[in-house]
Amino acid sequence: MIIFGTKTKILKSKDSTTYDCENCNSKGSVTFSFMARYFHIFWIPIFPISKKGISQCSHCKQVLYANEMNPRMKQDCASASTNTKIPITHYFGLFIIELFFCLVIFSIVKNSIDETKFLATPQVDDLYKIEKNDAYTLYKIAEIKGDTLFFKMHSMAVRKYTGLNNLKKKYKNDYSDETIKFTKDQIKSMKSDSKSDFGKIYSIERD
Ligand SMILES: [Zn+2]
Repeated sequence: MIIFGTKTKILKSKDSTTYDCENCNSKGSVTFSFMARYFHIFWIPIFPISKKGISQCSHCKQVLYANEMNPRMKQDCASASTNTKIPITHYFGLFIIELFFCLVIFSIVKNSIDETKFLATPQVDDLYKIEKNDAYTLYKIAEIKGDTLFFKMHSMAVRKYTGLNNLKKKYKNDYSDETIKFTKDQIKSMKSDSKSDFGKIYSIERD
């Protein structure tokens, strides 16, 4: 099964000028068309590759490529080519890839704005992803008193950052009863200084 490759679509010239055929001598039987080639995956156009102008006689069906046309037709074909745009659908894949990157960037920017807000105005139940001693765990705000935040620590730690999602879902209630406290200044240093004694804050989440 062919899942990717190139396809060609014939585009009719927007130019209505006709030419006499040098092959069969028919009058005004020759017009331009353009072969737009694009790369596809599963027949979905990803990006255009090329656009080649050809002339065709409607009477004898002779096809000429640009290098076979007489100089005047060759020049007309080039200007007709600039007026015949590649359909926007041939850029579909590029558009999707761009959209994907825009969404990724948007989500990174939004996360960073959110975290700045969560740091400035902490709330009970805010969840902090922490790295300490080469392991990752979760801290959850249990209480806030002035400039001091009291956290409950998750009872488990994981070796990989992605393992935190497991702690969040499967073991979401496994927090210590005791709390540890940090001042807001300590929290800020944990966010910005990767060698902080208290651990490093990777991200902050709020439901
Ligand atoms: Zn002809």
